[in-house]
Amino acid sequence: MNGEQPNPHPTKGENPSDTALHVMPGVEGAPSVNPYILKQRELTKKSKFSPEEIAKGVLDGNRTLLSKAITLVESNREDHSELAQMVLEKILPRTGNSIRVGITGVPGVGKSTFIESFGLYLLEKGKRVAVLAIDPTSQKTHGSILGDKTRMENLSRAEGCFIRPSPSSGSLGGVARKTRESMYLCEAAGFDVIIIETVGVGQSETQVHSMVDFFLLLMLAGAGDELQGIKRGIMEMADLIAINKADGKNEPYAIRAKAEYESALYLFPPPKSKWFPRAITCSGLDGKGTDEIWKLILDYSETTKTNGHFEQNRKDQSRLWFRETLKEAVIDKFYGEKGMEKTIQMAEENVVSGKSSLLKEIKKLVAG
Ligand code: GDP
Repeated sequence: MNGEQPNPHPTKGENPSDTALHVMPGVEGAPSVNPYILKQRELTKKSKFSPEEIAKGVLDGNRTLLSKAITLVESNREDHSELAQMVLEKILPRTGNSIRVGITGVPGVGKSTFIESFGLYLLEKGKRVAVLAIDPTSQKTHGSILGDKTRMENLSRAEGCFIRPSPSSGSLGGVARKTRESMYLCEAAGFDVIIIETVGVGQSETQVHSMVDFFLLLMLAGAGDELQGIKRGIMEMADLIAINKADGKNEPYAIRAKAEYESALYLFPPPKSKWFPRAITCSGLDGKGTDEIWKLILDYSETTKTNGHFEQNRKDQSRLWFRETLKEAVIDKFYGEKGMEKTIQMAEENVVSGKSSLLKEIKKLVAG
């Protein structure tokens, strides 16, 4: 040893590889913003799209354009509606490849909890899931029963899932048509399972039933049918009755209720589908019964595809929607005529005062 210490801070000119104090050539820097997000931002900013662009976006599974297309379908503006119809025409040949599942039950039965666990289960199975809603209360009060933002939090964050709340304006028939058209858009965007949720408190179950392949009714044990506000007609529409919240202390009651509903189902006339509705127990909270429900849906689908009911049912639904929408359009056109309200009042007075006969006035009005 000569007593000399190596210089810990080499100066310029000394071999740089002897020290850590120099810049190594690094890997190329990543773009500061994810290019996918940039593209999404671009699309969000852009306000005018051609029907071709929107349709292509939907078919490519682009969520921004799918949302835009649904917004157009939901809009009451004439120009939006025209654009929406052009988009729909373009995507219609690519619809029909999903299983459409309707879910109903009174508020509090556990629909959103169930849909969340069912949706996550389906995602795990590699399915893409869309959840749409029809909520008749949202049109009246704006504070809808289904519209609560905290619902289905995990599901709404999950990749592969698309959740859209109920359109909030228009008649129930109009809202249902919009949901049906949104369902087509989701199908064209590649979603395999479309869940349409509704509150079991009015006419909306019938509307949902007429747009889905499979109708699931959630019930609770220990509450009479009247208490649950479920009419016999709704039970008759169900392909499956699931007694929900079959967990903890409630489980034995749920099992008993299942047996009761099962025997009630035997009393109903045989269904057109030739697939006999069942009753089972489930728990949206702990996921019990989810697997069985999905297997029953698949069994239903297979049975009814084999016996022809699946296709026939969709055709019948299309016919029904055509007639219903035509009826609505005729009514809107009639009442929308300029001065119509006044003309109706005058005709009404003529009838009430006995000046004129009812049919004569009606014929005059309808003749225009
Ligand atoms: P919805 O109004 O039909 O959508 O019902 P929610 O999913 O919002 O549930 C209403 C209440 O029931 C909430 O307090 C839930 O935590 C509770 N709940 C939902 N599903 C279950 C279940 O499977 N078991 C139990 N024990 N409670 C549940």
